[in-house]
Amino acid sequence: APGEELAVDRSKMRVSSTEVAIEMVDVNKWYGEFHVLRDINLKVMRGERIVVAGPSGSGKSTMIRCINRLEEHQKGRIVVDGKELTNDLRKIDEVRREVGMVFQHFNLFPHLTILENLTLAPIHVRRMPRREAEEVAMLYLKRVKIPEQAHKYPGQLSGGQQQRVAIARSLCMNPRVMLFDEPTSALDPEMIKEVLDVMVGLAEEGMTMVCVTHEMGFARQVANRVIFMDAGQIVEQNEPEAFFTNPQHDRTKLFLSQIL
Ligand code: ADP
Ligand code: MG
Repeated sequence: APGEELAVDRSKMRVSSTEVAIEMVDVNKWYGEFHVLRDINLKVMRGERIVVAGPSGSGKSTMIRCINRLEEHQKGRIVVDGKELTNDLRKIDEVRREVGMVFQHFNLFPHLTILENLTLAPIHVRRMPRREAEEVAMLYLKRVKIPEQAHKYPGQLSGGQQQRVAIARSLCMNPRVMLFDEPTSALDPEMIKEVLDVMVGLAEEGMTMVCVTHEMGFARQVANRVIFMDAGQIVEQNEPEAFFTNPQHDRTKLFLSQIL
């Protein structure tokens, strides 16, 4: 598996913070009649790297989309960096400012260049001067190792390059938390590692990350905790080693037998 070849500096992987980054307390959500999230309780400390695993339709995307209010929960509490998500639009804005999100499909603007994609929000949302926004953008394009693509359009880049642009675009907003929803699922196998490498780099820098992914090599090497979801519930969670070698629930065992 691509994840197995990742170069990870274990010494940078310790989590020592006692600061809570994200807290979900008894979170429930319905899509109409359908009860999609059931009593979700999850506390993520600053600097933690959580991998969320589980079968398709188990509510993984819905759960992480609730964290930046792309979806609304109906019951329970979600607190991000001390700010509770309610209908207060100011709070929602504050939370979104701190939470970056990367999707399976990169959601870049096709008619804008890479540089324009990266500077759009900093200029228009953050009111950053264009020159400064471009400097920041180039810095992050270097970090994801494609500064030479700055003046091309998304359609001229490979999937792996586009996903690295999407990550760089999030980083330009200087988030404190990064959410990833199957960032490598739409990529050809040979491009998966270049995206995972960028994610490893973020982890080594201490970024708080919640990643929905099927890359179990990444989970083993980078996550400090794996959350397993099924039918809208967190069924079990553990350190990766224990999660993979000693799953507790039948549903987890079944899932692992299918994926590994
Ligand atoms: P996962 O990411 O684990 O595959 P999702 O969170 O996308 O799961 O979906 C969980 C369940 O909610 C699925 O049964 C899905 O069909 C349903 N669902 C997702 N989005 C919506 C929506 N906007 N309206 C109604 N049902 C939805
Ligand atoms: Mg999903």
